[in-house]
Amino acid sequence: MDLDGDIERVLWTAEEISIRVSDLAAQISGDFRHLPSPVVVVGVATGAFVFLADIVRKITIPIAVDFIRAESYGAGTESSCSPIISCDLKIDITGKHVILVEDIVDTGSTLSKLIAHLKSKGASSISVCALLDKPARRKIHFELVGEGNFYRGFDCPDYFVVGYGMDFAELYRNLPYIGVLKPEKYK
Ligand code: 5GP
Ligand code: MG
Ligand code: MG
Repeated sequence: MDLDGDIERVLWTAEEISIRVSDLAAQISGDFRHLPSPVVVVGVATGAFVFLADIVRKITIPIAVDFIRAESYGAGTESSCSPIISCDLKIDITGKHVILVEDIVDTGSTLSKLIAHLKSKGASSISVCALLDKPARRKIHFELVGEGNFYRGFDCPDYFVVGYGMDFAELYRNLPYIGVLKPEKYK
């Protein structure tokens, strides 16, 4: 099997991603530098694991790291719009500033569900850091909590993308770049 051969077009190379991740980490490090307690950085499993690993190593302030798991897609390319939280946080976030790290925001239903969940656990602010944003497909508007910010890496055109943590049917997560899958691979 040749992973690269399944990709129709590369949208962002590993180098382009790395530069943008550095920018986002610098913004976050600056915005949260005066807080008295460590920020809790929460990766949304599985898709955000590569982005999370890269960005936390570029953040220069004290942070705690945890994961939460949300599932909406199954093995298809369309969001179900009713994601479930299938694995919860380990860290107590009561009174903490939380940054949710996501691979991509599509309809917005996963994020709005996760934000409501973290809010109910007593986070004092909730920010979102998404590598990709597909604003054209937004169905649900999500609200940040407290002084939370929305950090976005790149605007993503309306294609199904894979790589840099993102999958189709659990494959392609290990590609170092982000690309568009050849349509015959999922039709
Ligand atoms: P939403 O709930 O915003 O519709 O979708 C969020 C989740 O769906 C993302 O966290 C991501 O896991 C998945 N997703 C959305 N668009 C894409 C895409 O183009 N490619 C891949 N691989 N996953 C996507
Ligand atoms: Mg995701
Ligand atoms: Mg997926």
